[in-house]
Amino acid sequence: MSFQNLQLNGAMLRAVERVGYTEPTPIQVRTIPHILEGRDVVGCAQTGSGKTAAFALPIVQMLEPARGKRRIRVLVLAPTRELAAQIDEEFGKFSRETSLRHTAIFGGVGQQPQVNALRRGVDIVVATPGRLQDLMNQGYIRLDQLEYFILDEADRMLDMGFINDVKRIIKRLPKVRQTMLFSATMPQAIQDLSRSILTDPVKVEANPQSTTVETIAQSIYFVEGGDKRALLKHILRDPASQRVLVFTRTKHRANNLAKQLSRARIPAEAIHGNKSQTARTRALARFKAGHTPVLVATDIAARGLDIDSVTHVINFDMPNIPESYVHRIGRTARAGASGIAYSFCDLDERKHLREIEALIQEPIEVIGDHPFVSATPPPTRQNGAGKARQNGASKPARQSRRRRSRRPRGRRQARPA
Ligand code: AMP
Repeated sequence: MSFQNLQLNGAMLRAVERVGYTEPTPIQVRTIPHILEGRDVVGCAQTGSGKTAAFALPIVQMLEPARGKRRIRVLVLAPTRELAAQIDEEFGKFSRETSLRHTAIFGGVGQQPQVNALRRGVDIVVATPGRLQDLMNQGYIRLDQLEYFILDEADRMLDMGFINDVKRIIKRLPKVRQTMLFSATMPQAIQDLSRSILTDPVKVEANPQSTTVETIAQSIYFVEGGDKRALLKHILRDPASQRVLVFTRTKHRANNLAKQLSRARIPAEAIHGNKSQTARTRALARFKAGHTPVLVATDIAARGLDIDSVTHVINFDMPNIPESYVHRIGRTARAGASGIAYSFCDLDERKHLREIEALIQEPIEVIGDHPFVSATPPPTRQNGAGKARQNGASKPARQSRRRRSRRPRGRRQARPA
């Protein structure tokens, strides 16, 4: 399938070529023609699937040629600032040959530049719910002429407690409009919301949440909490660990870990909600450019980050929401590349592992041979077929740093089913 088959016009095909997309992704193939026909769409797709272009390309095409006074015709709601900025950037790429104007509206930065952009007039607004409502309430944003509404990462809106804000915003939109809703998972609350805001939608599924991308090699390290840091350093010293995204449970742990790694001469930065927008953008840019090989993030900060060629995702802490596991490891193996996802699991986190395996419907391989094997034996499967083989039940004597760093990564073993 090529972009030429999707009813895109010359300007859009040139834009696609300019940004270097050679082939549409499955969500693009399944969505673009329907959006161009004016249909509402509900898309079950994660970040990394190419969903932004799936809605941005047809929308830019439909907005042109623009007539009459400039007004906000498109609203995209996204849960995080980073995601809003990335979507806005994508609109920028596709509207370069047009007269359309777009802007991102999010909190954590001064509102004046955003107000100025709105005053100059924009066609496309990409916003997070809080700041959008602030600016609407102050009278800077009018949405009564809106034609297209996109709710992106709807399940994250729910997780982050924004769903009532989203509903309040939707109440203020014109009833006649084209609506698209994207969500990686479809919990009941999102299904109910879809029913109430979409009219006869086309349902598109690109990568169901319960299946993780096949090109990601996933493994578990059973390790005690106190050894996680040493294990991480051990892995990071492997030259294959070039661009590594590490997830921690809290902002505090992200900060501490980044500091400790930097002290161990492994350049690392933390990215989380307490950092200023400028600091987050800078850290992200350094990571993307390859200057900082390790980025330590919390779930919320990493949501929707558009980072190419992450070689490893490491769950330093297991996510306590199983869907977050799929979101996290989806940061690697993007756009056809292969990736590695390691998860560190201590005794208290084994319940989370069980939930994750239930969601993805497969056991994750255990790396049984590493210098920090947990003293507690690995869990057995219900049929009692055995345990993952580990390198001795108790922690082996620590080896010298030099020796450890040269050690092979460890034998992969499938846990008995
Ligand atoms: P998204 O799921 O929209 O966040 O997109 C994930 C990444 O895939 C972004 O870096 C896009 O620029 C990229 N992308 C989107 N569509 C394509 C395509 N057809 N070919 C290659 N890369 C793409």
